[in-house]
Amino acid sequence: MKEKRLEETDYQVYRAIQAEITRERNNLLMIASENYASESVIEAQANVMTNKYAEGYPGARYYGGCEYVDEVERLAVERAKRLFGAEYVNVQPHSGSQANMSVYLSVLKPGDLILGMDLSHGGHLTHGSPVSFSGMIYRAISYGLDQKSQRIDYDQVRDLAKTHKPKIIIAGASAYPRFIDFHRFSEIASETGAYLMADMAHIAGLVAVGLHPSPVGSADFITTTTHKTLRGPRGGLILSQEEHAEKLNKAVFPGIQGGPLMHIIAAKAVAFGEALRTEFSGYQRQVVTNARALAEELMGLGFNLVTGGTDNHLILIDLTLKGITGKEAEGALGQAGIVVNKNSVPFDKRGPRITSGLRLGTPAMTTRGMKEDEMKIIAGFIRKVLENPGSDKILTGVREAVLDLCSGFPIYQ
Ligand SMILES: *Cc1c(COP(=O)(O)O)cnc(C)c1O
Repeated sequence: MKEKRLEETDYQVYRAIQAEITRERNNLLMIASENYASESVIEAQANVMTNKYAEGYPGARYYGGCEYVDEVERLAVERAKRLFGAEYVNVQPHSGSQANMSVYLSVLKPGDLILGMDLSHGGHLTHGSPVSFSGMIYRAISYGLDQKSQRIDYDQVRDLAKTHKPKIIIAGASAYPRFIDFHRFSEIASETGAYLMADMAHIAGLVAVGLHPSPVGSADFITTTTHKTLRGPRGGLILSQEEHAEKLNKAVFPGIQGGPLMHIIAAKAVAFGEALRTEFSGYQRQVVTNARALAEELMGLGFNLVTGGTDNHLILIDLTLKGITGKEAEGALGQAGIVVNKNSVPFDKRGPRITSGLRLGTPAMTTRGMKEDEMKIIAGFIRKVLENPGSDKILTGVREAVLDLCSGFPIYQ
């Protein structure tokens, strides 16, 4: 296939992609839900399988010519089963949100009650927020964190489940720095006759190598994204037991999706293959070690962290007593080349557009090869910026130091 290159055929798009590569090389990407997929994953998703219609499942498609896409989907399924020790796997959801929607469609009717974690306490939009389909189609109630410990209030989960009898309980979060006790959730679910869905979107990479207790064996349904700690292409994944296979398959297709993204499924297979290698455990261990090192150093510099530390790949800085909002902090750090997101802290008095917190994760920096020493350096940068958010001179100085640090850890050569 000899064709002109994008640089010649569409320079505008080409230039934006090149600029994005440069941005990813020259900044400290500390958004906890982001990572650098390997060049193999990126190569695999940029392939001609994007051309292929493959509605249905391997061996039972609605279109001819599916022999090679069947091969990659079978590989992806088989590898994901091995990786997580699951009986049933569906690799077709286009995203984490689609995975969640599929599970709901498989067991809920419109108007049924769901119980998920409050968005402002670290939950996800798809766990029942009124601005998401999950809160529009279903009736949603939410549990939160204990005000003192800032950890999930399991007693509240049990009380709410006993009183309101939700059809499904959702365990999982986007901004929670501690272990989630899936076993405890499963006891509450069986006690109250609810299904349990574990949404491990953020922590799937940790779960894959045993660094976070696995929901497999505790939850009826497990959903995840494939692009966060798991470091694959952007997409979703569902795990379950064989008994739920038929209704989950039907919920994904034809329930909520048409043709699967076969080029992305090829890249999922590559990513699961990478995750099965021993280097991946070492990588995840370093992700957690780095998060702890960053947490320790920031606390040593006088920052307040939600729950006073972390068990996983992310930390939440509480800026309430620092005289700066999450929004201002995100802006100043961005100017200095440190890319983070503002985040509500538990019981935040500011709204979601301003917030009093920052969420920082180590997955991407660890992929670049950074270790504890670099985390200490980064903590120092963060202090400097947050103590002088209005000083162009200081922000420029940190920006230069960030560039220097980045150049020592090359990515996408
Ligand atoms: C990121 C995330 C999702 C959604 O993933 P998308 O691929 O962005 O749709 C769902 N649940 C949780 C807990 C997440 O963190």
